[in-house]
Amino acid sequence: MPKFDPIASPTVRTAEHLEPAFAHAEQSDAAKKKIAEFSARRRKRPNVLVFLMDDVGWGDFGCYGGGVAVGAPTPNFDRLARAGLQLTSCYSEPTCSPSRATLLTGRVPHRHGLHRPPMYGEPGGLIGEATLPQLLSDSGYATQAVGKWHIGENAASQPQNVGFDDFYGFLSVSDMYTEWRDPHFFPEMVYSEARTEWVKNMPFNRCFVHAKKGGTPENVEEVTIPALSLLDEKWCQYSEAFIQRMAGGKQPWLLYHCTRGAHFDNYPHERFLAASPAKHPYKDTLIELDDIVRRLTEALRATGQLEDTLIFISSDNGPHMETWPDAAYTPFRCGKGSTWEGGVRVPGIVVWPGMVEAGIQSDGLFGFSDILPTVLALAGESARLPADRYIDGVDQSSFLLARDGLSHRKYHYYWLMSTFSALRCGEYKMVLSSTSDDDTGAWGPGGFTGILQKHTYPALYNLYLDPKETHNYMTRKLAYMEAFQLGIRQHLLTFKRFPPKTVMGLQAADARAK
Ligand code: CA
Repeated sequence: MPKFDPIASPTVRTAEHLEPAFAHAEQSDAAKKKIAEFSARRRKRPNVLVFLMDDVGWGDFGCYGGGVAVGAPTPNFDRLARAGLQLTSCYSEPTCSPSRATLLTGRVPHRHGLHRPPMYGEPGGLIGEATLPQLLSDSGYATQAVGKWHIGENAASQPQNVGFDDFYGFLSVSDMYTEWRDPHFFPEMVYSEARTEWVKNMPFNRCFVHAKKGGTPENVEEVTIPALSLLDEKWCQYSEAFIQRMAGGKQPWLLYHCTRGAHFDNYPHERFLAASPAKHPYKDTLIELDDIVRRLTEALRATGQLEDTLIFISSDNGPHMETWPDAAYTPFRCGKGSTWEGGVRVPGIVVWPGMVEAGIQSDGLFGFSDILPTVLALAGESARLPADRYIDGVDQSSFLLARDGLSHRKYHYYWLMSTFSALRCGEYKMVLSSTSDDDTGAWGPGGFTGILQKHTYPALYNLYLDPKETHNYMTRKLAYMEAFQLGIRQHLLTFKRFPPKTVMGLQAADARAK
């Protein structure tokens, strides 16, 4: 049998509602054995810490080529990458809310319906979705969410109503609390009493909140600019206390810790002002985030839970180039809001001492949708995977647990709001439509960056030879054409059997009104 190859090897579809995946039978058997040994050794199911940052770029960390070289050393992220598996092709969605909803549901945005972030009290959210915290909670896990939510401010979509036992954080996104308060960015608002009142009357909560399962959120504090600069510190303390509280108990847990940083605008804690060689608030915030990840892992170590806990560290999308210099670093093309690699290729560090081998780097494909089925598999709860809807994620547990493991994912599907944009397989990426600053052939709004452009012919990029996606290689590589188009057709066909959903914007409002 020929050696495995991500383009040439076939996948297996085990059910109509599940994404076809590479089987890797030996690797999968070894992973199951490793998980069984863990259960016997530790006498519990694994804890899960998801540490998700906001708008932090693929290249911001030293271990990804940034760090000292871009004015913000990140020794703790780098140390964690060396202690575990560093993914170089980890994919988010192009913006915050679609990514977060994909992470928690195992489904691409065109299925969960959050195509873009809800802003200033807009309705939206996880209507009718089966979430990771709910599924884990049903199986006996303690579930804690801390920090940024931004998956819908409406009551039904709030964290304490979609599976979390407890939530301490804000329901929307950083800039919404402060941009209209800062005279540097919004002088016409700050110096106008009428406009300030107008914003204050918009239907969003200006406070960060605390909520318990099924309850109504209680306001903790209004998020003024001085209050905002302390949020990541307060949220870190809350998560540290959770980790300490859970120590020694038998109950496994999920901690979903989402930082405020480093979304624009950044007002780091005063301890970190000018702490970076760059002396810029964005870079100082990275230093603060690096310290927070150190504190959380130290809390795990000090309480004897490090070996019981799978840690996944990432960012919800690429750098937001339109808010430069409050913008991250990526070596790839474009940034947040696009399906060029700069928008969706994010850091991905997986640490679990004794289970995930140390010092491994892999370019195997890994999508945010994979987290739900993977965590369920690690918890021995794959049977809880919903069967009444399409699950785009694949179980990557054996990829993570094997030394030099192979990804089970053949294709990464790039969605730009409700438009299918591109397909990656192996080192190749076929692009059907993308964002552009050139408005020739404009096909729709681009989201956060330029306009959406439909390509007359699909463009093919070799991401190893051309990581910045500037040289269309299609005419020399026609052998891939049919296989890639088949991959796209098969993906789009799943929406015929499992129709897409829209929960954002006018279309959703029309549907609600009917
Ligand atoms: Ca974001």
